Amino acid sequence: MENIYKRRAFIKSGIQSVSGILGVGLLFAACNNNTDSNKENKNVPPPDTTGKTDAKTVADPCDAAALTEQDLKNRKALGYVAQTPIPEKTCESCKLFVPPNDTKKCGTCSLFKGPIDVGGYCTYWADKSV
Ligand code: SF4
Repeated sequence: MENIYKRRAFIKSGIQSVSGILGVGLLFAACNNNTDSNKENKNVPPPDTTGKTDAKTVADPCDAAALTEQDLKNRKALGYVAQTPIPEKTCESCKLFVPPNDTKKCGTCSLFKGPIDVGGYCTYWADKSV
């Protein structure tokens, strides 16, 4: 009779140990999943709660991702940047700038292919007021 109680106590402690190990394992798994989702969310901008969402925050209309590698090299060779470092020299004030029309949000340049930001700049900037 004493053996039955010992065996029951052994089985009970075994079940408790297995339950404890599984519980700790699930806890670690849950923590790792949270860490992974936090990494993924770093690249996602927070939702706009200001109500001032403009077209540029929704999608960049001057995104040059569709250009070929050679076209991108040409832009880079001329020193094009989407945001001018010299406020008085922008693509908009350049002789070579072709302004956007009603359907497009960004212009183009006479020197190379692809969309050009009105606030952009390159080393070939030419004052259109001259
Ligand atoms: Fe802009 Fe340079 Fe083209 Fe002028 S030449 S429109 S500054 S990219």
